Amino acid sequence: MGTFKAVVIEKGDGGQSVALKDFDESGLMDGDVTVRVTHSTLNYKDGLALTGKAPVVRRWPMIPGIDFAGVVEASSHPDWKPGDSVVLNGWGTGETHLGAYAEKARVKGDWLVALPANLTPEQAMAVGTAGYTAMLALLALERHGLSPAAGPALVTGAAGGVGSVAVALLARAGWHVIASTGRADEEAEYLRGLGAAEIIDRRELGAPGKPLGKERWAATIDAVGSTTLANALAMTRYGGAVAACGLAGGMDLPASVAPFILRGVALFGIDSVMAPLPLRREAWSRIARDLDPAALSVMTTTVPLDQVIDRGPEILAGRTRGRVVVTIA
Ligand code: NDP
Repeated sequence: MGTFKAVVIEKGDGGQSVALKDFDESGLMDGDVTVRVTHSTLNYKDGLALTGKAPVVRRWPMIPGIDFAGVVEASSHPDWKPGDSVVLNGWGTGETHLGAYAEKARVKGDWLVALPANLTPEQAMAVGTAGYTAMLALLALERHGLSPAAGPALVTGAAGGVGSVAVALLARAGWHVIASTGRADEEAEYLRGLGAAEIIDRRELGAPGKPLGKERWAATIDAVGSTTLANALAMTRYGGAVAACGLAGGMDLPASVAPFILRGVALFGIDSVMAPLPLRREAWSRIARDLDPAALSVMTTTVPLDQVIDRGPEILAGRTRGRVVVTIA
């Protein structure tokens, strides 16, 4: 057995350390599929793992990275054979199971999704967990019966990863998209390019508001949480819904029941990590069909594996625009 390049987080008396290393293949964890990883990506959660700012990593040493695209090298799983192109999102990789910032990964075949035929591995990672979560949110809103005819859709944290994909997906589906951002000065043009019809300053939603406000939107994809989520609920039209998927602004929810009991507003929780396989397959096939490749390209920057460590603090500081692809091979 040989070694492969990997970003490795170790824990010592002085806290955690993270570095690009040669990792011994015998250290890979159990799994019935071994994948040659070609691309990964940087999500908010990866930033938390790389910096140790929140207890994302629960096993040491850990290879961080919650998403990968790659090619099956060996498999004893009935669904996969060497040469298959696959995508993995979540399932605890980069948290409890050795993850994606490495040339090699060994995982359960049940965790894998086939790379959609019309996406390259790089595009799949430009989507990544952030983009697939935006699609899970859109699917939840649609299952509730909402469509562009119901009214505008709000996206919070719009210039970030989940937000950028959400803006592009909603706009492509015909929604009037209101993009909330703290970076209107720099990113308004970018967001309009993705399809936003209106840009609002996130401070409008960031201060404690009334239990019920003016009815401004029928649907929300929220990546921010906290007061922003409370205000998004309070300003939702009668019968509308909010899909909550993030906590970039805080984990709390200082809201009242007024929108639920007086306007019939629904709040959907979105989890990408343990989402069941049929839902993942539905999300990926909708992404492959509906996400404009030009919009995806505009929102994506690319870094090599040895630079991803430095990008961790950047994403936590809210300075990352759109999506970051990590090239590995
Ligand atoms: P990004 O950092 O790319 O995007 C987050 C955006 O939120 C920022 O770009 C910024 O947008 C906004 N933001 C950041 N800090 C604050 C703040 N203090 N107050 C208000 N807005 C803020 O991260 P991702 O898109 O990767 O993830 C977004 C969130 O979704 C994270 O909390 C992440 O943990 C969560 N998530 C959850 C998943 C799930 O399964 N439920 C899956 C994927 C992500 P702007 O500059 O436009 O204001």
